[in-house]
Amino acid sequence: MLPFRATNRRLTTFAFSMSAYPVDTDTDSPLVECPACQEPLDFHQPDETQPGNLLGVCLACQRWYLWIQDGLELEQPLLVELPEWEQIRRKLLEFESECA
Ligand SMILES: [Zn+2]
Repeated sequence: MLPFRATNRRLTTFAFSMSAYPVDTDTDSPLVECPACQEPLDFHQPDETQPGNLLGVCLACQRWYLWIQDGLELEQPLLVELPEWEQIRRKLLEFESECA
């Protein structure tokens, strides 16, 4: 456990556009490729109570995706691209310059 505690004070709210990619389940390959660079994604299951919702990390281009399979009435799972660290950093810098 980290010796830090998140606060419930909101610093600001950011808006991002996020891309969603349907996953082709009609394939012989057990690997899911990164939509950006086509390298295999490395999946993690952060919440064991949601086995159909995973975090996919591309070790080649450093993008992160949310694999969503539970709770959707879709025929295919979706990969939703999460904002990159650089996008978040830019939003924080914009926020700081607006406050200055
Ligand atoms: Zn990638």
